[in-house]
Parts: sequence; C-alpha cells; structure tokens
Amino acid sequence: MEKETFISKEEILQALKENNEKIFERADETRKVFCKDEVHIRGIIAFSNYCCRSCLYCGLRKENKQIFRYRMKPEEIVKVACEIIQNGVKTVVLQSGDDFGFSRKTLVEIINKIKKGNNVAITLSVGEKPFDDYKAFREAGADRFLLKHETSNQSLYGKLHPGQSLKERLKSLEYMKKLGYQIGAGNIIGLPGQSIDDLVNDILFLKEFDVDMAGIGPFIPQKDTPLGNYPAGDLNLTLKFLALGRIVTKNIHLPATTALGTLNPREGQLLGFKAGCNVIMPDFTPEDYRRKYVIYDNKVPVTLKKAKKIIIEAGRKVARDRGDSLKRSDYAKNT
Ligand code: SF4
Repeated sequence: MEKETFISKEEILQALKENNEKIFERADETRKVFCKDEVHIRGIIAFSNYCCRSCLYCGLRKENKQIFRYRMKPEEIVKVACEIIQNGVKTVVLQSGDDFGFSRKTLVEIINKIKKGNNVAITLSVGEKPFDDYKAFREAGADRFLLKHETSNQSLYGKLHPGQSLKERLKSLEYMKKLGYQIGAGNIIGLPGQSIDDLVNDILFLKEFDVDMAGIGPFIPQKDTPLGNYPAGDLNLTLKFLALGRIVTKNIHLPATTALGTLNPREGQLLGFKAGCNVIMPDFTPEDYRRKYVIYDNKVPVTLKKAKKIIIEAGRKVARDRGDSLKRSDYAKNT
C-alpha cells in the first residue's frame, strides 16, 4: 500500500534527472492502489485529417501540402463506432484535426447515433471549438473531451502554436469541466526548446488542473514540418514522466500511448504499463484513412488484438466497465 502522499517540486526535478528504478516501482504500486489491475481500452476513429492550425510539430498542419486530406462520411464514422462497440470496447474516441468542415449539427447527429441504445462513452478529441459547440456535443451525450495542453510553458506554447494561446486553450478546458465533461489534458516530452523545469511544471499542472485523464507521449518528428529535423524525445524520460504523473495525480487515466510504441515498437507500451499507465487506445480507423493521419512519422498501428496482447504481457486484465473518471462519483452509475 502506498504510504507517502506528497512529492515535492524538488523531488520531481531530481527524479526526472536521475535514473532510479524505484520511481517505476512506486508508480506501479500507486497505480495498483488507485486504478487496480484493469486496463481500459478506448477505440479511436480518426475521422478527418483536415486542420486549420499550424502547430510546428504536427504533420496535419494546414501548411503541409504533402499529405492527402480526407473526411470520413458520417455514416462511415457511425459504422466504425458500431464495430468498436461490437468488439466489446466501451469507449469510442472521435478524433480529428481542428476541422471546421464538420458542422456542429453533423457532429451532434453522429454522437446521437452512436449513443442511441448503447452504454458506450464518447471521448471527443476534435480540437478547439466555439463554446456553444462544446455545449451542444455534451447535450448530445459526449462524455469526455481530450484537449492536450501540449506544454504548460506559455511562451513555448506560443512559439509552437502560431495564432493560438495556452490561456485560451485552458479556458476551453475550464468551460468543459463546468459542462460536466470528464476532461483530458496532456503534453509532449522532448519538444525542441523545452526544459526539464517545463516538464516539472507539466506534471504539477496535471495535478493542479485536476484533470481526469492525460495523454502523454514523446515528441516524434514529422518530416514535412518545421521541426522535422529535430531528434525524437527520449523514451526513458517519457517513462519517468509517466511514473511521476501517476505518483503525483494518483488516479487519473493514463494511456500507454501509440507514440511510446512508435519510439520503441518492441516494448514501448509495455514499459508504459509498468510505469503507471492504465489505458490503451487501439486504432479502428479504416486502413486507407489511417495511413493518412500522419501527425508524426512511422506511427505503428495498434490493433485491438495487439492491445490485448500487451495487456496480458503486462500481467494485467481488460476492464469490463466504461472506464469513466475515477475522480467523480457521478460517473460511477455508468460503470
Ligand atoms: S496538433 Fe492538432 S491542432 Fe495542431 S496541427 Fe496537429 S491536428 Fe492541428
């Protein structure tokens, strides 16, 4: 049983700098106490790779003319969502670039159709939208919203996201909290220009902002972006970050991200589970589209079969419930 409940800023900094295996043991103990042995599977549909933004690290940025853009049809999206549900997966993640080609009405209809008659959670990962959209999606039945903060360093955020501000992004997250969404933030490890102090602040941010989940992965360059020639983030540093994230926040949902598996296809995600992760997100996007969703290069495909294999290898089991936030009792009724 985990006894210590506090870890100071200095201790976080020290732990990120040194290589001490104990941090992983402590994270694993914390995960066991607060999240048990179940791993939650979330099925992703990347339904559009159009994006109106210019994030310096991302292959979907609007300036990238090297990729073929696609938008799945609403009926295709609903069909894939049904496949996810039929496979026993209890969360559908609808993911896209910041694409205003899908109207509020269309997304609401898609959410309605997926939710109808199904005890399935919907996570939206569709970027920054007008506040009325967040409200309409929530009313239509969307349960969760993932809007990664990417870095808690305001000035670095401004440099990497031309025309956007961290302040505005956090306002969106605050508003979503009020609407009753389970909210997800998350950041990138190893961004060019990022310091170790920034990472300490990112860990503390997850705690202070009281997020329900966090998507954390290493920076991986995409060749057709301004950061295409920078080195990828470090696997071990990412694992230490995840471990500290678990120790500090205790009970948030932490995915062993596909980016971890891309950095180390043999065991990246397995190591993520040993560092405190309790979620995995296989990709159900039809192959033709999936290959075009190039946020970064050489993304490894994570199928449901592969996800289950990693869960077993990690000595864990597939959760049977929806895997709602462990922070809020109002979601307990769904599990
Ligand atoms: S990170 Fe998101 S918002 Fe930025 S360019 Fe990529 S898809 Fe668009």
